[in-house]
Amino acid sequence: MNDCLFCKIIRREIPSTIVYEDEEILAFKDIHPVTPVHILVIPKKHITSLAELQKEDEAVVGRIYTVINEIAKKEGIFEKGFRVIVNCGEDGGQEVKHLHFHLLGGKKLGVKIA
Ligand code: 5GP
Ligand code: ZN
Repeated sequence: MNDCLFCKIIRREIPSTIVYEDEEILAFKDIHPVTPVHILVIPKKHITSLAELQKEDEAVVGRIYTVINEIAKKEGIFEKGFRVIVNCGEDGGQEVKHLHFHLLGGKKLGVKIA
């Protein structure tokens, strides 16, 4: 996907602060953090949204959660807790059309995140 923002981040065409990378997964700091720790974890494969997930994507999504735990430990938020959010589609408030998992932590979160 040539014009996808997050694909451009994967290709280093747009700079970002990368905190984790392997063959299938990239994690980088959100440009507008809403919590002290706010990291986006994405599959390198362009998947438009959670709603577009295919059977073949199940393994990488499972691995993303393991990676999230590792990042949470590195970022020092594992013990106190954190939140993972996936916005999907228009009503879900998804702005970037490449599947991404928000890892949020570093403060006590309320019931609702904007
Ligand atoms: P969504 O609203 O689609 O769930 O989340 C998209 C997220 O991407 C937002 O939290 C937004 O701050 C973040 N974002 C948008 N553009 C950029 C960018 O160029 N770099 C980084 N690191 N994050 C971005
Ligand atoms: Zn993409």
